[in-house]
Amino acid sequence: MPGSLLIVTAPSGAGKTTLVGGLLERDANVRLSVSYTTRAPREGEVEGVHYHFVDVASFRGLRDRGEFLEWAEVHDNYYGTSKSWIREQIAAGSDIVLEIDWQGAQQVRRAFPDAVGIFVLPPSFDALEARLRSRGTDSEDVIARRLLGARGEMRHVGEFDYVILNDALEEAIADLIAIVRASRMRCARQRERHPEYFDFLEQD
Ligand code: 5GP
Repeated sequence: MPGSLLIVTAPSGAGKTTLVGGLLERDANVRLSVSYTTRAPREGEVEGVHYHFVDVASFRGLRDRGEFLEWAEVHDNYYGTSKSWIREQIAAGSDIVLEIDWQGAQQVRRAFPDAVGIFVLPPSFDALEARLRSRGTDSEDVIARRLLGARGEMRHVGEFDYVILNDALEEAIADLIAIVRASRMRCARQRERHPEYFDFLEQD
């Protein structure tokens, strides 16, 4: 029985990674897709766990061989999602979360029209600004660029099926879990899970 494909998109500073971490901890059937990227690892990031870190030539090679379900250039780096891993996992019945940007989300939706799109918003634009400032490490210039980037990403909110306002973390995790559970109850998935029952109900 195939699993669901869940796309989670958010501007930086919306708390998407913590939110998805909460879902993964509480739901053993959900797995996170590990993207390929050309950006350098940040402190604490582990190869194969947070990303597959590759150089530009390797990334272009994978891309040109059609190995990516989607790929995009974000902040001057390449990011891409492995096609074969996703297909294997979904076929095995796992629900897969893709933490990707809006450009990737559009490509995935074209390939998998049943994919569930979830957009994570900060509680307000002012709250996002406050969060970015509270890191305390970035210059005004960097903060202004991040805010502009966030605004650009947030313009795409209407392309998604669900929107979570990440104000109180535990509540936002519960919202995300509710969406995943609801995706399992869609008629098409229940039909795949109980084919004989559905055949019986629908026969003349
Ligand atoms: P970061 O470098 O901060 O981890 O991610 C930067 C942005 O790239 C985020 O918006 C993140 O969602 C996006 N991203 C991460 N992996 C992928 C991917 O495989 N495909 C696409 N399209 N975006 C990705």
